[in-house]
Amino acid sequence: MAQGTLYIVSAPSGAGKSSLIQALLKTQPLYDTQVSISHTTRDMRPGEKHGEHYYFVSKTEFASMIQEDAFLEHAEVFGNHYGTSREAIEQVLSTGVDVFLDIDWQGAQQIRHKMPHARSIFVLPPSKEELDRRLRGRGQDSEIVIAKRMAQAVAEMSHYAEYDYLIVNDDFDLALSDLKTIIRAERLRMSRQKARHDALISKLLAD
Ligand code: 5GP
Repeated sequence: MAQGTLYIVSAPSGAGKSSLIQALLKTQPLYDTQVSISHTTRDMRPGEKHGEHYYFVSKTEFASMIQEDAFLEHAEVFGNHYGTSREAIEQVLSTGVDVFLDIDWQGAQQIRHKMPHARSIFVLPPSKEELDRRLRGRGQDSEIVIAKRMAQAVAEMSHYAEYDYLIVNDDFDLALSDLKTIIRAERLRMSRQKARHDALISKLLAD
């Protein structure tokens, strides 16, 4: 069986990356596509669940996972630690399932280095005005907090050219369709198709 493809998806917060991944998962069966659940030291937000959005761990637990080389990549983002568990990813990919990593540019660089076959996708917002509007959220944050978020978004976006694919999330349905097209094209690659249609190809080529 051909290995699944590892997809890295990065974006500044406010670009709609998580919504795109969640919408994608709804259209794909679980035996085809999964999203990796990261470990993080950040506090759980209202509505989040341990083991569903993240594995929420203490700084000590996170540090011992680094010691045990349990992470494929890990990084500090906005003062919290995030990491992708090596074991979970490698096991799932070996069963032919595609795995999505919702990670930042630092993690993307580490994965590209270790797994050159991974594909990376960057999602941009349609304009700075729209990003600003989304970063303002419910309008309860100070201008200093908003300016900090915008600076973090610009820092993340400055890495866009390191990725294989670029999606501008203006029209959500179109952006989702772009994402599906990338996956479809990757699945039609010769290496995947050869393994999948092995029996058919043998019959077609038999005398
Ligand atoms: P949030 O705390 O808002 O869920 O995520 C903050 C940022 O951390 C997002 O850009 C997200 O992509 C990134 N992130 C989440 N999990 C991981 C991970 O396992 N590794 C890395 N490098 N970044 C992550």
